[in-house]
Amino acid sequence: MATIFTHVLVPVAVALVARGSSAPVSGRLLAAAMFATVLPDFDVIAFLYGIPYDHILGHRGVTHSLGFALGIGLLGALAAEGLKASRTAAFFMLAGATASHAFLDAFTNGGLGVAALWPLSDVRYFMPWQPVEVSPIGVSAFFTARGALVLLSELYWIVAPLAVLAVAGRFITKSKT
Ligand SMILES: [Zn+2]
Repeated sequence: MATIFTHVLVPVAVALVARGSSAPVSGRLLAAAMFATVLPDFDVIAFLYGIPYDHILGHRGVTHSLGFALGIGLLGALAAEGLKASRTAAFFMLAGATASHAFLDAFTNGGLGVAALWPLSDVRYFMPWQPVEVSPIGVSAFFTARGALVLLSELYWIVAPLAVLAVAGRFITKSKT
């Protein structure tokens, strides 16, 4: 994974862009989307059950696929009323947030790739270019020099581009209204 700090920023950036537009993101939908960005990494539980990393039910398997993201999007659409959003907005926000996790993971330089095309294929994929330092698994590992290196690389490769996109997107939505 990239770190959870970075994953949750993706829907935050989307919400910032949509703020003030005709379709702002509700607080509930944003909270659900932030949760959806970290949901895929609950699959590390697989390690506790002795499921190997390269198994489709292992880390970066099923939960890091477009199939899983579509499923979460559909759940969001069903719960749209509770999320104070339209079905379409809930679907795209949650499916997009979930898929963004695997998308960012595919840019990291360690571990195995993501099973992006499950259930069509079990193959693990990486992007052809992986500039992001892979995050250590576990909390204590963050408080090391390696943890600092990971955060710096995410700041540079993910957070900064996201901020630029958010500002540019905000500028565009503003100039439209
Ligand atoms: Zn992950």
